[in-house]
Amino acid sequence: MNNSFEAVTSLCAQFGAKLYERSFIPAEDGGFAAMVNFGAEDALVSDGGDSAFEGELRFAGGERALVSPLTHETMQALRRRFPFCAPSAVLARERTMGVGDRLGIAGSGHIRAFEPFDATPVLAQQSMRELTLTKRTFEQVLDAASGAVFREGFRRGFGADGDHLKQPDEVEYALSCGYTMITLDCSEHIRNDVAAMGGMQLEALPFPYDDLYKKYNGVSVDIEGAQLCFGGTELKRMLHLYGAAIDFAQSIFERYLKDRPVDFEISIDETETPTTPLQHYFVANELRSRGVIFQSMAPRFCGEFQKGVDYIGSLDQFRAEFAVHAAIARHFGYKISLHSGSDKFSVFPIVGELTRERFHAKTSGTSWLEAMRLVAMTSPALYREIHAFALEHFAEAKRYYHVTTDLTKVPALDTLPDDALPALFDQNDARQLIHITYGYILNASDDLGERFRPSLYELWRTHQETYSNLLARHIGRHLEQLGVPARSERQ
Ligand code: ZN
Repeated sequence: MNNSFEAVTSLCAQFGAKLYERSFIPAEDGGFAAMVNFGAEDALVSDGGDSAFEGELRFAGGERALVSPLTHETMQALRRRFPFCAPSAVLARERTMGVGDRLGIAGSGHIRAFEPFDATPVLAQQSMRELTLTKRTFEQVLDAASGAVFREGFRRGFGADGDHLKQPDEVEYALSCGYTMITLDCSEHIRNDVAAMGGMQLEALPFPYDDLYKKYNGVSVDIEGAQLCFGGTELKRMLHLYGAAIDFAQSIFERYLKDRPVDFEISIDETETPTTPLQHYFVANELRSRGVIFQSMAPRFCGEFQKGVDYIGSLDQFRAEFAVHAAIARHFGYKISLHSGSDKFSVFPIVGELTRERFHAKTSGTSWLEAMRLVAMTSPALYREIHAFALEHFAEAKRYYHVTTDLTKVPALDTLPDDALPALFDQNDARQLIHITYGYILNASDDLGERFRPSLYELWRTHQETYSNLLARHIGRHLEQLGVPARSERQ
């Protein structure tokens, strides 16, 4: 057949479908594959001679095309047929950033944000908690990412991160779906209560770490000029704090990751006190000496990394401490991972500079907030309703997050004209209000069923292009502040 772009475009038009230009792939044998839009839905269209896909054969003007709905089976076939649509381990690349897409609609915007920059996205990135709150599965999250990659013709590679996994079966689930990064949340094995204990209280605890104590006591190391010295009570405290977490990470590595081309991230950021450089070095060194290979680690930094707003705390202190963390990561050859990286614009330049542009950063909530900004822009009445609902559920939602939101600073909505609503998303307290209530908003129901979800998704579909543009700008600003060079500068 004639598989030129023009011929396929007009063939699709005869079915009432609009071709996504960048997805079009002509094959040498005259075949083709592309993604099209049928109004409410996208579908994959191919020439029908390709047995890779299943679907419905349609005929027009003496030509035929196979239309495949975007089922999980179609997306699996797509990843096999076009490997650029499958995730891979990407953390060895210098600049990587996770862009969680809780709604399954942000992929195109995320890809467009990365387009001009020399950095690699981890497009499918979701925690178990996010899956539960959004009622999605790892399969769906990855399928949405693969679909966006194909639609946008994005061939530079991307990662898929099973984020903040805490249980072996969660790791197994993410791996079985083809995820190429496992972020192990060790928090349930970190003994937080010892952080505040006095020396005597600490000495009274059972101490199963004699061998480790002997190994580290009196050791001092120099990391790019920073002296790290182990010994005494602080060493014992450290062993109580991280001993079980290290065992846990080792067991997960040996059981699931040892022989797999999968990125492994060690997350120790969900603790009550910031990770000291000494603790960071200890965890990394001990894991390395047990043969555990990992590509990134997320310590908890000083200051506050609250959801959806800029860093809160002293930038000088952050800079001084981050310099040592970055040096430790460099010493062992892994990357620092910055969690809750949404909107941390004031620390980004420091992160980019002190890691010498070898970092991983994670965002997620900020893409949800841009989706809600879009609601405020295009459907003020719906936004007002959701905002009132969020206010009602804020106190409940706050139990799960550490935020210092001051609701009295959020303007009363009846004082605001419609065109002032989008600017709420430039105000920290309003951002956090909408950020931490996302699960409540998505799952709200009344006698008629789901209260907001159907109208929200319809709105997001209608304004997909605007959403992509908002994300390209907003996520692009993250990359820019992190000091990611433009692609053209290096080519
Ligand atoms: Zn984290």
